Order: sequence, then C-alpha cells, then structure tokens
Amino acid sequence: MKEITCKLLVIGAGPGGYVCAIRAGQLGVDTVIVEMAKPGGTCLNIGCIPSKAIIHAADDFAKTVAMAAGRNAMGIKADNPAIDLAKTMAWKDGITGRLTMGVSSLLKKAGVKIVVGRAKFRDGKTVAVETETGEQVIRAENIVIATGSAPVELPMLPFGGKVISSTGALSLTEVPERLAVVGAGYIGLELGLAFAKLGSKVTIVEALDRILPLYDTQLTQPVARRLAALGVEVLLGTKVKGPSSNGEALLAKTGSGEERRIAADRILVTVGRKPVTEGWGREELELDMDGRFLRIDEQCRTSMRGIYAIGDVTGEPMLAHRAMAQGEMVAEIISGKRRSWDKRAIPAVCFTDPEIVSVGMSPDEAKAAGREIKIGQFPFSANGRAMTLSAEEGFVRVVARADNHLVLGIQGVGAGISELSAAFGIAVEMGARLEDIAGTIHAHPTQSEAFAESALKALGHALHV
Ligand code: FAD
Ligand code: NAD
Repeated sequence: MKEITCKLLVIGAGPGGYVCAIRAGQLGVDTVIVEMAKPGGTCLNIGCIPSKAIIHAADDFAKTVAMAAGRNAMGIKADNPAIDLAKTMAWKDGITGRLTMGVSSLLKKAGVKIVVGRAKFRDGKTVAVETETGEQVIRAENIVIATGSAPVELPMLPFGGKVISSTGALSLTEVPERLAVVGAGYIGLELGLAFAKLGSKVTIVEALDRILPLYDTQLTQPVARRLAALGVEVLLGTKVKGPSSNGEALLAKTGSGEERRIAADRILVTVGRKPVTEGWGREELELDMDGRFLRIDEQCRTSMRGIYAIGDVTGEPMLAHRAMAQGEMVAEIISGKRRSWDKRAIPAVCFTDPEIVSVGMSPDEAKAAGREIKIGQFPFSANGRAMTLSAEEGFVRVVARADNHLVLGIQGVGAGISELSAAFGIAVEMGARLEDIAGTIHAHPTQSEAFAESALKALGHALHV
C-alpha cells in the first residue's frame, strides 16, 4: 500500500480527535484521522449519547408507570405501561448511528482523510495502521494522540457473563430483574437510576462513605432522596468481594463488618475509566507520563516535539467537552495560530435525577484557596416555572469573592438543570460579577430565574425568598 504523508495525523476519532481533525481540515491543514472502531469514539457510540438516550427513555417510562399507579397530581391517567427494551435500544442505536455518520461526513466535508484500523507508532513521525486490506504507513509532521479511555476492571469481577461494563448495560435488550452496581460515581448513578426506573431492583455498592464524591453533599442530597424513593439500596463504605460461588449474587462487606449477599442477574461495574496508553506503540516513543496519563503542557504538547495528546488519555476531568476544546485548540496551533489553554472552568454535569451542575469553584474549594466569599442560594421550590414542571427539588448556588463580587463558581441541582450549565459557564468564563447576573433580565417563567435570584441573594436582597 502506498505510504501517506500529511501535515497532521490524528489517532482516535472520539470527540477530541474528530473535532481536532475537522478544525484542522477547515484551516486547510492536510489531515488524516485513524480510527479502529467507529467515528465518534466512546462518547457517541457507548458513552454520553447512548446513556442519555436510555436515561430519557427510563424517565418517560417511570412517569407513565407513576400515572398508571395514580401517582400523578396533574390528573393524567395511563393504563398498563410496558417497555420493550430491545426497541428502546434500537431507537438509541438509531441516534448514535445518525451521529456517527454525521461525524464521518463532517470529516469528509473538511477534507480529512479517514483511515480505518488500529494505529501503531513506529517512531515519532511514522505510524503503521492495520487495515482490512493490509498495512498502511502514514508519515506526519505532527501527530495527535486521542486514544481516549476504557472502563476499569476489578480483579475479583472481570468483565464477562453477568459482569458488565457501561457498554454492556447500554446494549441490554431485557431489563434485569435484579441489578447490582459497583461504584456510585457518574456512570453508576446515571445508569443505576435509569435501570431502577425501568423496573430493576437496584443495589449500589460504593467503597467510599458517600455517593458522587466529586460533588459536595448539599448537591448530592436530592439525588440520594430520589434513589431512596425509587427503592434503590445504596451500601456506602462497602467492599465488594466477588461473585458468590453459584454466580447468583455479589458478595460484599459493609463498613460495619456485615457480610452481604446481593442477589443479582447482572453486575454492572462502574469504578472509573483508565486512559488508553497501551496498544498504540508508546514503547517506541519517549513520552513523559503524569501518573497514569500522558503528560501535556498548556498547548497539549507531549514531551516529544510534534506529538500532541488530547482528551481522556491526558487526564481529569475525563469529559467530552474538555476533549473537544483541546482538539479545537491543537488544530489551531498546528495551523500556525497562537493558542494556549486559558479556560477558567470546565463545566461538569451529572445526568442523575435530579441533574447536578458544577462550574468553577464550590464554596469549600474557594475557602481552601483562601478566598473570602459570599454565597447565594435560591431554591427551585420558590421558582414558578419549576412548580409548573413538578420540579421543585433543588437549588442554584453562586459563589463569589466577598470584596469585588467576582463569580468564582456556580452549582446547582434540579430537573433539567443541565441546560443552565451554559449560562453558568458563560458567567464564569467572562468574569461576571454578582451585579452582572442580577442585572441581566432573565425571562419569566424559566428555571434560569433561580440563577439571577441566587446572585441577588448573595447581594443580600433576593426578591422571591
Ligand atoms: P474516546 O471518545 O474514548 O475516543 C478514543 C477513540 O480512539 C476511540 O474511538 C478508539 O477506538 C480510538 N482508538 C484508540 N486507540 C486507537 C488506535 N491505536 N488506533 C486507532 N484508533 C484508536 N462525558 C461527558 O462530557 N458527558 C457525558 O454525559 C458523558 N457520559 C458518559 C457516559 C458513559 C457511559 C461513558 C463511558 C463516558 C461518558 N462520558 C461523558 C465521557 C466521554 O465519553 C469521554 O470523556 C470522551 O469520549 C473522551 O473523548 P476522547 O476523544 O478523549 O476519547
Ligand atoms: P467515577 O470516577 O465517576 O466513579 C467511580 C466510583 O466508584 C467512585 O465513587 C469510587 O469511589 C467507586 N469505586 C472505586 N473502586 C470501587 C470498588 N472497588 N468498590 C466500590 N466502589 C468503588 O467513574 P465512572 O462512574 O466509572 O465514570 C468514569 C468517568 O466517565 C467519569 O469520571 C467521567 O469522567 C466520565 N463520565 C462522565 C459523565 C458525565 O459527564 N455526565 C457521565 C458518565 C461518565
């Protein structure tokens, strides 16, 4: 096969890699992208998008079940609700299929050449790709490593059979009667809640003494209440020991020393993700590491000239929008523009019920950084729109410097609050002060009014509480 030479080679077409390649193509950089699975990576195929589709379907189903049981204050009635999970999965696959096709056509439109196969470095400028039709050698001036991440496996619960990762959970065609979830982080809670709504008896086992350790307890309390209302048992401070000898249960030991036997048809292990730093010839290079991740600087340069790394392979937070922002920046740098990582915040959204958003510093983080702060918190129970949506649980909280009122962070928990992450992000990124937020007219009736009210509260004169 004839060798390809190009200015930019991107390895991995997840959100980091495909965005980098599209932007580079737009800028006229001669670009090739290699992907061994499907364009869109973890996010579009087995991550963000399919999980949100299933979460949405589960939510609709749970609402219908509640209506059928007469638990609907709006007077809506339903009869005998049922779910055909195979059909739900087919609907979800339709969405991911459309998106991955969309990514391929965007790459083509930007003039990017797509090579399908596993890429392996031969040296710092040369990569060999195992394609269906043989080996393709690619020589590039610049190479971006965007190989992403993979689920962490527990030695006593290797994936296979009943023990599944998020990928397995997102392709189940029948709702498991009993589901044990190991890990109460992002995926364990997002999918644990979804399967509880679909009708599974869910038990979540978490090693630490709290759920969602990334967020403060004020933010996670509404989620804990919802888990309890759905009948999900959460075992905190609990160690998993492995499957029972007959394979019908998960064995665990609680913090108080109690041995638990959790009957389970499926065991979903969601104890984190690990960067994909093997399988692409790292041994042929001299790349510095930052713990388990590839070390990068503020321009996503690795320790080798001409080799960049972006996305999950480079560190926390392992989020799609961080990968995309890095990809866009690196493409611009390679095209000759002066760019470096200057973001104030990377929003984090947990698509639990209710949803949690955090942008910038929490009160504890601000205090730990030695800041004198003002905090304003406004509850959705005092927000008209939230009432009309039956979504009164939760609040918006703003954290600002006490002296000049510069907003340091904004957090919130509530149904549908993920959509407010944009307003929160813009406020932090643009250096808004409490007065800017309070002085912006927020449309009525919207949940976003809680944001303006939280700023007013911090200024000492909230109007609606
Ligand atoms: P990836 O998306 O992992 O893509 C890497 C790509 O590289 C893959 O397609 C892989 O096949 C390819 N590759 C690897 N090695 C090679 C090789 N040698 N040759 C060729 N190709 C190779 N993030 C959010 O921001 N919001 C969410 O709601 C969210 N939900 C998630 C839900 C789940 C269930 C999971 C698992 C993850 C979720 N994430 C979410 C995380 C998000 O998916 C990742 O942060 C994101 O996909 C990282 O993008 P990336 O480009 O770094 O890597
Ligand atoms: P996570 O890091 O969010 O949570 C893992 C949880 O497992 C933690 O609470 C940890 O204490 C616990 N744990 C670790 N070892 C354990 C053990 N042996 N027994 C019991 N509990 C154990 O990891 P995740 O849920 O697998 O998600 C991986 C990553 O994917 C996230 O960190 C995030 O970057 C990304 N993600 C993001 C979103 C989103 O943005 N909404 C959604 C899903 C995934």
